Amino acid sequence: MFSGKTEELIRLLHRSQISGKKILVIKPKIDTRTNSEIASRKRSEITKGDFKKFMDLPATPVEMAAELDQLIADDKPDILALDEAQFFGDWIVAYITKLMSNQSDMMILVAGLDMDAWGKPFGSMPQLLAMADNVQKETAVCFVCKAPATMTQKLSRSETTVEVGDSNIYEARCRFCYKQPSEL
Ligand SMILES: [Zn+2]
Repeated sequence: MFSGKTEELIRLLHRSQISGKKILVIKPKIDTRTNSEIASRKRSEITKGDFKKFMDLPATPVEMAAELDQLIADDKPDILALDEAQFFGDWIVAYITKLMSNQSDMMILVAGLDMDAWGKPFGSMPQLLAMADNVQKETAVCFVCKAPATMTQKLSRSETTVEVGDSNIYEARCRFCYKQPSEL
């Protein structure tokens, strides 16, 4: 969420664009923050809730494998980038496995949250992390004590995990300041 994952993805993609690579960016349909672009929100001020769009790139919402098949056939990208990958369904693991075994030189970049607000592995991220040639972890700043933050703190007790990226619902915490949602 606030750890710069999307900024890092966008930075890598901009560099690749400059070198003339064709890029396809996808995001899960469930991510409702923006319609057709990946957008990262960065705290522009200390005031909580004051986020602004930092940088963006066009991104196509994808719900199932057949849609991605079509996009790849149409675009023939050199680089496939996934944002908010924790919200793709289980199908994404088999799909990426298939792409990786196709002997193509398509580069695949995945950005996502590794743990949910309960501190548990998030969606298909554990499998995707295990399959990756390289893993880069970004840390946020703890909203409470300003230490490096690796946890996502839910600010209410609601049971759902699919509210995405809203600063009123989640904030970054270090392990020391983090509380399980049930303890709120
Ligand atoms: Zn802290």
